[in-house]
Amino acid sequence: MRWVDRGPEPSGVAGYARQFTQGWINHFQTGTGGRPNDSYWREFRSLLGSRTGEICWYCERRCYASAEVGEQRPTVDHFRPLNRFPELAYEWSNWIFSCQRCNDGNKKDSWPDVGYVNPCAPEVMERPERYFDYDMLTGELIPKDGLAGSDRRRALLTIDDLSLNGLDVRFYRLDWARGFVADLLALPVPDRQPLVDMLMREPAEYAGVTGMVVQQMRREGYV
Ligand SMILES: [Zn+2]
Repeated sequence: MRWVDRGPEPSGVAGYARQFTQGWINHFQTGTGGRPNDSYWREFRSLLGSRTGEICWYCERRCYASAEVGEQRPTVDHFRPLNRFPELAYEWSNWIFSCQRCNDGNKKDSWPDVGYVNPCAPEVMERPERYFDYDMLTGELIPKDGLAGSDRRRALLTIDDLSLNGLDVRFYRLDWARGFVADLLALPVPDRQPLVDMLMREPAEYAGVTGMVVQQMRREGYV
């Protein structure tokens, strides 16, 4: 996971919020009215996805709109889930571009007391880069050294509840990182930084992992 700039709120969101938010509040908070069937946040799915080249902001795998690849189907996740925070149904800052696997398959309506790591956190100190590190041997995301208390718990729950170390995503991530390290080490040292710059600029799968690997390699003097 890496930090994503969601961009400014597009026109249209505020109008939907005015018109439809109360229905969600009535349903979940006051128990009046059936579950609303509006879901106009889906209209903004492509716009959100375009920020990262259609890559899920949680697991960093590419999403595909075609029906054959259900788990990688793009969705709009409500970071703070609808059932607990219906007032945020049409809140731009609560929408995360997410694959079906991470959203409907794993995160669902969960919201622990410490919350989750927010890929779009506005505060620098809350961004994913402060929470996660990468284990080069196993491909696992791990909480960063030095995290303690609720911060460490938030990192661990984000990894566990979204199954970010599930075999499906972990092996792809490991493959990517190994390929990247091999490509990098094959280059003469002065040519390594331009490759890093290019990959960090491109909307590439596992850009967050690439960033973590580069940090480790920098500490060891390879880049
Ligand atoms: Zn995902």
